[in-house]
Amino acid sequence: MKKHSVWVLEYSRSPVHPVSGVFYGAHNQGTMNLPFSYVLIKIGDAVVLVDAGHDAGDFGGRIADSIGVTGWTHPSVVLAECGVSPEDVTHVILTHAHFDHAGGLKYFPNAQIYMQRKELESWMWILSKGPRFRSLQAGLNPADVLYLTQANTEGRLTLVDGVYSDVVPGVHLRPAFDTHTAGSQYVVVETAPGSRLVLSGDVIYTYRNLVGDDLDHRQFIPPGLANGSQTRLIETAEEMMSIVDDDYRHVIPMHEEKLHEYYPSKLTAGGLRIVEIALAAEDESRV
Ligand SMILES: [Zn+2]
Repeated sequence: MKKHSVWVLEYSRSPVHPVSGVFYGAHNQGTMNLPFSYVLIKIGDAVVLVDAGHDAGDFGGRIADSIGVTGWTHPSVVLAECGVSPEDVTHVILTHAHFDHAGGLKYFPNAQIYMQRKELESWMWILSKGPRFRSLQAGLNPADVLYLTQANTEGRLTLVDGVYSDVVPGVHLRPAFDTHTAGSQYVVVETAPGSRLVLSGDVIYTYRNLVGDDLDHRQFIPPGLANGSQTRLIETAEEMMSIVDDDYRHVIPMHEEKLHEYYPSKLTAGGLRIVEIALAAEDESRV
């Protein structure tokens, strides 16, 4: 019997995202549609958001505009589809601090924030290196680092060192250091004894990163956008697959456009996709 409900909630998309950003070595292959999402987990009274989206009205919105992101929708509208308001969110887990994952933190004023200590420290260091390091700074909104500092002074920031178990029952953090970013992490959800989901963050953007093009001859294709190493991305992908007993469908990539081919879903009136990955015994379906 499942204890957790899990939904992937699209909040915007880029219809023109470079294929080379998603697949290492995919030169001159044009652009692709890339949904931008966060993941809502409910267990008991806890309301957990994995990543927080961005704010279209600040510098994160300018980064989004510069890469062709459209259709941004306020979290109060997105979460209402699951009967939740932003103020209800009790925990936000940041897989990493890119603008489209951390920039929406301000919308969740009651949440305790969990991220890897190494992620915050590395961004401080990269920023300190100035404009010559701006290729490593891509995707960061420095205002999000300021927000995290403010949350820290309010006692709302938990900086994690590596493995961290039971943020809420059955929701665990695993480090993915030196992969997509220096201090990335991913989330393991034990929805029932022996039944696990992996929320991959940007270590895995899509199922193609995990299995390649041929299910009979699988290969890992690491994402193109990485501040860390392609080797570490592949090693972490293998680690995720071992956690889900090699069933790739139990890894949930937040930028995967085709999740609805694997799980029940619906399109909202605003054209955003809601995918229902798991449903707790006492919960009602939202799709
Ligand atoms: Zn990212």
